[in-house]
Amino acid sequence: MLRVAVIGSGPSGCYTAQSLVQQDSEVLVDVLDRLPCPYGLVRYGVAPDHEKIKSLQNNLRTVLEHERVRFFGGVQVGPGGVPATRLRELYHAVVYCVGAATDRRLGIPGEDLPGSWSATEFVSWYSAHPDSAPERFLLGARSAVVIGVGNVAVDVTRMLARGPAELSPTDMPQAALTSLAASRVTQIHMVGRRGASQARFTTKELRELGALPDTEVAVDPEELALDPGYLDPSGLPAAQRRNVEVLRGWAEAPAKGAPRRIRVRFFLRPVELLADAGRVGAVRFERTAPDGRGGVRGTGRFEDIEAQLVLRSVGYRGVPLEGLPFDPATGTVPHQAGRVLRDGVISPGEYVAGWIKRGPTGVIGTNRPCAKETVTSLLEDAPVLVHEELPGDPLTALRAEGIEPVEWAGWQAIERAEAELGASLGRGVVKLPDWESLLSAARSDAS
Ligand code: NAP
Repeated sequence: MLRVAVIGSGPSGCYTAQSLVQQDSEVLVDVLDRLPCPYGLVRYGVAPDHEKIKSLQNNLRTVLEHERVRFFGGVQVGPGGVPATRLRELYHAVVYCVGAATDRRLGIPGEDLPGSWSATEFVSWYSAHPDSAPERFLLGARSAVVIGVGNVAVDVTRMLARGPAELSPTDMPQAALTSLAASRVTQIHMVGRRGASQARFTTKELRELGALPDTEVAVDPEELALDPGYLDPSGLPAAQRRNVEVLRGWAEAPAKGAPRRIRVRFFLRPVELLADAGRVGAVRFERTAPDGRGGVRGTGRFEDIEAQLVLRSVGYRGVPLEGLPFDPATGTVPHQAGRVLRDGVISPGEYVAGWIKRGPTGVIGTNRPCAKETVTSLLEDAPVLVHEELPGDPLTALRAEGIEPVEWAGWQAIERAEAELGASLGRGVVKLPDWESLLSAARSDAS
């Protein structure tokens, strides 16, 4: 009987487990995660106010509750935990679904000034990621600059513009709610280095900015008009054409004088973060212009935008996992239809799916066909792999080595503790924000 370990319980890990049990009626799957909680970026990346996307957890739950799937939380793979080589001894096959764990850097002076954060740090904080420190993101901030025009940039812009009445019903941790509710940020600048027709956000997400209470969205018509794609949208793909139409609507609308203002800016490339009394005080941008090949060139003209808070939202990046090959150019593991390649040669029994396989792009659903491709490869290889002799139940072996996973009952105890915490605060479910409270809740499980 085939035994498979899936490393990572985000969408790509869960879809991999689902595809395995659907396509093979005997396979046994263990889904391991570094965190005691499942669901990866659905729990720790999807914005708290995106209830509908978050409800995908219910689909992922049915996968992890399948009779031939087990969840092992709190298990680190790699240094300080279970080495990749040990996993290969315990399982016939291992599928790495570890995502893209870090953020891309801008590589400009001042990037690390106090008050400048990666968007992922900010997202982790309001999503209650246990590795997130209790930072004071909003300290003294009145004006914020968000660098990048992808969906993460839209998420963090929207969260900065939300008021307490909208944040309170979410599962956001109490400290983040208190801090955001007291925010004095009234100006948020979301800035792209290329034109409106080249922005990466999707129209549904973009439109939400226009529907925020007490907030207006401003777009400079002259800045839009620098973009040939905006002037003649007929050649654009439908998604970009819709984005351009939404932006055009905002550019043409009269100012409302709302208490909060989001300015969407284009053709501005960040060149430096400027300090004011030891913290970030402004971002210096160079005005860019289309280079005729889809990129931009500098113009030698500069503009400073005041900001006491800077969120760099320029994409994620995969990190190397000890014991696995890695291509630093793409931040992914080299593979052929999901089979890991070592020095260009297929490494039997090792697979990848999700962002570590194809890079940090696409929506949650993109992980379904991606996982299916990997599982198809794995099951083609299974007749050979299944002949390898295993030492028995991997859980017994892990425990003998001092590793005590948080199993499904432990996760359910965390869920109960989060419901109780919410009730005590007069809110719905409220997430536990630190390792200690998560692990003590998990260990309180009555099993
Ligand atoms: P993204 O879509 O790749 O956007 C990155 C943005 O950063 C782009 O505007 C890019 O501009 C800009 N950028 C990159 N390097 C830069 C630099 N050095 N200086 C200035 N700007 C720079 O990444 P993301 O927003 O992190 O999203 C990652 C994935 O998650 C995407 O597939 C996204 O759709 C998905 N996601 C989806 C949702 C949702 O569906 N609600 C929510 C969050 C995330 P260029 O285009 O010029 O490179």
